[in-house]
Amino acid sequence: MSTAVTNWAGNITYTAKEVHRPATAGELADVVARSARVRVLGSGHSFNEIADPGPDGVLLRLDALPAVTDVDTTARTVRVGGGVRYAALARVVHAHGLALPNMASLPHISVAGSVATGTHGSGVTNGPLASVVREVELVTADGSQVRIARGDARFDGAVTSLGALGVVTALTLDLEPAFEVEQHLFTELPLEGLDFETVAAAAYSVSLFTDWRRPGFRQVWLKRRTDQELPDFPWAAPATVALHPVPGMPAENCTQQFGVPGPWHERLPHFRAEFTPSSGAELQSEYLLPRAHALDALHAVDRIRDTVAPVLQTCEVRTVAPDEQWLGPSHGRDTVALHFTWVKDTEAVLPVVRRLEEALDAFDPRPHWGKVFTMSAAAVRARYPRLADFRALARELDPSGKFTNAFLRDLLDG
Ligand SMILES: Cc1cc2nc3c(=O)[nH]c(=O)nc-3n(C[C@H](O)[C@H](O)[C@H](O)COP(=O)(O)OP(=O)(O)OC[C@H]3O[C@@H](n4cnc5c(N)ncnc54)[C@H](O)[C@@H]3O)c2cc1C
Repeated sequence: MSTAVTNWAGNITYTAKEVHRPATAGELADVVARSARVRVLGSGHSFNEIADPGPDGVLLRLDALPAVTDVDTTARTVRVGGGVRYAALARVVHAHGLALPNMASLPHISVAGSVATGTHGSGVTNGPLASVVREVELVTADGSQVRIARGDARFDGAVTSLGALGVVTALTLDLEPAFEVEQHLFTELPLEGLDFETVAAAAYSVSLFTDWRRPGFRQVWLKRRTDQELPDFPWAAPATVALHPVPGMPAENCTQQFGVPGPWHERLPHFRAEFTPSSGAELQSEYLLPRAHALDALHAVDRIRDTVAPVLQTCEVRTVAPDEQWLGPSHGRDTVALHFTWVKDTEAVLPVVRRLEEALDAFDPRPHWGKVFTMSAAAVRARYPRLADFRALARELDPSGKFTNAFLRDLLDG
């Protein structure tokens, strides 16, 4: 069957010759074994060609498979199917009195697709979403099952794997006891004199937002676990109305603010599961760099804000704790993530992305794998010290390159 499938943003049309939606594990293994080239499409929230198998390839969707969310309350783990999204997972986990330590800005995204690209939330002590994965179950090129668990020498290549090792049919995640979170929003935090380290550590999860139309941050979102202290925040004024990070968008789409406590999964994401997240008409880019460079990098963006602001809807600044995944954008370093929600106009946005990358180049940025970037493949490769280990793992599990595509060949093979 040939059909036009696009990503969530609508800027990418996948060129696959066929789309398959297997309903059983057996069907899935058959399609993989008999196809020459395969990529899985998760919830399609990436903004580049990372999921596209190319015109001779097969695009696999896993949403017709049983939506497994098996919680083990004794071990405090959940085994989640390869097509399940965070919103569905979080409801089940919470019903068992358990929690994930962190979430991205939206719950609409698939777990497997998110951890494959290094998706993260915020918090100086919170690693990316991949950091709670303890086991990966894959269907590899010949249709056979492989399990790679924490402790296996291959594990640090197996979670943030860009879909290059096989079809992830299930992941087992560590959980913790359920907790409550309050959101406290502030407005107009100056860049001049900003003590970034103190502000970033002011709550469990902190996000700064700006439109770069003038210096400083329009909004600060503090997500406080109710079992932790909320220090004074004297640098900005408390918000008096509910806010959306994108100017002009309705705050009803956002999770509850004004310090009202609520379950972790209804406060850690900015956007509510039942509404369109973000603006809905957009492109996104994001660069993850060592947190020690945060202030210098923010001043570097400030210097080109006249270039950035005209195509920008909002910019979000978050932190991520280091992780071990070889292709993790926060691999081995305390990280600050500078995110840009652009207008949906590729032609207008790309020159600005190039200019932004020049401005950030001195700070060793790694682009988010699922977003728009123009950085050279050689520059990306140079920023991943364990890239050769990942290539070797991909060759071991996928000797014929069935799960590779043009995007990955350009970036990783070089
Ligand atoms: C509105 C919006 C908000 C966002 N907010 C954040 C945020 O807060 N933080 C952040 O870090 N990112 C964010 N992102 C980016 C997003 O998290 C990533 O693009 C992520 O990959 C989305 O997951 P997905 O399932 O939609 O991935 P897809 O785009 O469907 O796939 C991504 C990659 O994963 C692979 N893949 C997916 N499922 C499988 C599987 N079962 N087996 C093998 N490979 C698989 C695909 O082949 C592809 O290579 C946001 C995106 C949008 C649109």
